[in-house]
Amino acid sequence: MSHAITTELGSDGILVATMNLPGRPMNVLADALVQGLSELPAKMADPAVKGMILTSGKADFCAGADLDRLVTWTKPEEPFEGSMALKKILRALETQGKPVVAALNGHALGGGFEIALACHARIALDDPGLKLGQPEVKLGLLPGGGGTQRLLRLVGLQQAMQICGEGADIPVAKARAMGLLVDVARDRDELVAKARAWIAANPKAAQPWDQPKFKIPGGDSRAPATVQMLAIAPSVAAAKSWGNYPAITHIMSCLFEGGLLDFDNACVVESRYFAACVMSREARNMVNTLWFQLNAIKKGASRPQGIARSQVKKLGVLGAGMMGGGIAYVSARAGIEVVLLDTTQEAADRGKAYGQGLLDKAVKKGRSTPEKRDALLARIKATTSYDDLQGCDLVVEAVFEDRAIKAEVTKKAEARLGADKVFASNTSTLPITGLAQASGRPQHFIGLHFFSPVDKMPLVEIIVGKQTSDATLAQAFDYVLQIGKTPIVVNDSRGFYTSRVFGTYVMEGIAMLKEGVHPRSIEVAGLQAGMPMPPLALQDEVSLSLGLHVAEQTKKDLAAEGKAYAEPAGMAVVRQLCEIGRVGKKAGQGFYDYDAAGKRLWPGLTAMFPVAAEQPPQRELIDRLLFAQANEAARCLDEQVLRSVADGNIGSIFGWGFAPFHGGALQFVDAMGTRAFVARARELAARYGARFEPAAGLVKRAETNAPLGG
Ligand code: NAD
Repeated sequence: MSHAITTELGSDGILVATMNLPGRPMNVLADALVQGLSELPAKMADPAVKGMILTSGKADFCAGADLDRLVTWTKPEEPFEGSMALKKILRALETQGKPVVAALNGHALGGGFEIALACHARIALDDPGLKLGQPEVKLGLLPGGGGTQRLLRLVGLQQAMQICGEGADIPVAKARAMGLLVDVARDRDELVAKARAWIAANPKAAQPWDQPKFKIPGGDSRAPATVQMLAIAPSVAAAKSWGNYPAITHIMSCLFEGGLLDFDNACVVESRYFAACVMSREARNMVNTLWFQLNAIKKGASRPQGIARSQVKKLGVLGAGMMGGGIAYVSARAGIEVVLLDTTQEAADRGKAYGQGLLDKAVKKGRSTPEKRDALLARIKATTSYDDLQGCDLVVEAVFEDRAIKAEVTKKAEARLGADKVFASNTSTLPITGLAQASGRPQHFIGLHFFSPVDKMPLVEIIVGKQTSDATLAQAFDYVLQIGKTPIVVNDSRGFYTSRVFGTYVMEGIAMLKEGVHPRSIEVAGLQAGMPMPPLALQDEVSLSLGLHVAEQTKKDLAAEGKAYAEPAGMAVVRQLCEIGRVGKKAGQGFYDYDAAGKRLWPGLTAMFPVAAEQPPQRELIDRLLFAQANEAARCLDEQVLRSVADGNIGSIFGWGFAPFHGGALQFVDAMGTRAFVARARELAARYGARFEPAAGLVKRAETNAPLGG
């Protein structure tokens, strides 16, 4: 008998089954829980039982599949059978004749949502933070517990495709409007009371698809409206995914085929596609990085051990510009008291107004309330006085990217800070060890590199200077988690990790232009490679003049250190465009022309960089864009700029959107094997230049085809 589900029979004949997986913070579909579910139909056969409420003893209802198990499957038969076994249990639960209500007291995601769908009715707590849905596609998978087929039969093909194909959370209000919930409740007591009432009112519940005259809402896969939608769905999906995510295709096929079959046969089809997803390279990559490595990072894999956890109660932010305003907002959102300082009160107030703007929008959309907004804003004090920094646990500097100004604010702030408090710089280009020279206690000085826009970007790159102490790193790490972001930890270096590797992507695209590759082919290759934005468009966003400025600063800095500077292959092109005033999007002209109608590649580009008669295949362009980044990431590992493979992978996906289906810049190498990577990198080096010469660590590993990770 499983201890993962406890049952209690009430005097009204209603069995309350409570999922509470021992030893785990969340309910997941581990063996013990599945075993517990399998025992429920027999318990319901007891004539004293009139119906059942399925709920959870944890904060969530059930968070989904047990991915530890999933990665042990090596043959497609295993996921197929695993999925069929779960379906058999859920099918028994929904066909035993008595009503079952899912009382959703917290998140029901993935397999957890599938369990809820196999109940005859669902009631959820009316909590705007409660998440429902099928996020499997985000890990390259699809719901394998009958979820695709139950959703198809509950909400129709189009909505089922959206829910499973996009994997977005479904808020409670929307789920209710779609008919996925029969009711909502204020609290746990009301939840159970309403579930009891539903059972009393529906003594003979059966699923709609088990009723004789059942029809799929909106029609089956042959219905004219559905046929029309199906004709365009693959191209709509491909426009976003460029065919890089087989799970999306499998989800569409599974729903289309399922819409032609009876429920049980449709479930077999779903299990076949589920197995195909599980065995796919893409799912392996994504589960490896976006599940295992991400969880390890969040649990503190990159944090120094043996140092007590810290919490920031009061934060100082210097510079209330675009970044400072954002940092103040996300910190206040996490309950931290914030002092936001600038040179004038007006500038400081403007920084605070950034948060106000975001909150006003949230209130308008019903995602927050005026009271919550006002309470959050009351935590931000906009000021020009350094004395307000007294009592801060941490100060983050986000003033102009200028060494002298940064040095000045460091000194002024440190004069008001406790001796053991941390000072962090949000510089994007200046090495931390150099900035720490202005500090009276460089062991407490660190880099906290936020990304723009701060409220949306999930990553913070923590940069450890030469003298930064472990205690400082631990405090910075805890703060990043406290504000709900993901930290990666890197050692100091020019461009750190993210800007350095991201730069190779953009520069490679620009180098192609100079060689005579058609600009449109370059841009399409960027998207085909799985990057969120093509390289030329991206350089326009960042601005060509900024790129040039950073390159020239780097050249000067290196000369001062007596080091040589190798100019990236695309920089000459950037200079040429800057010379004619095409400095990027902010000027309305760069690689693209910008106007009210949108943007178009500048027609003059092909005159300036004539298109070669013979164009390379797209595969060559895609490889160049990906290999340039992966090789540079491997160099960062060699040079110990990167401290772990997990940080390298997560940093690449969360920092600059490296193709998620490859599982990150280093997993890209491991997925193909170091030997194959080195061989192809050498081919590219022979054709395009030394930047493709594989990193030394890769060459060494390639001897035995050893991976970079674990
Ligand atoms: P910004 O120009 O929008 O804001 C800078 C703010 O600092 C201004 O409000 C300015 O008045 C204030 N300031 C200048 N001197 C000051 C002083 N002596 N004391 C107090 N305040 C002062 O710039 P930003 O884009 O917010 O960038 C700030 C820092 O963050 C820079 O170091 C930049 O490199 C870094 N950064 C920027 C981005 C980005 O995408 N913009 C991303 C990561 C890091």
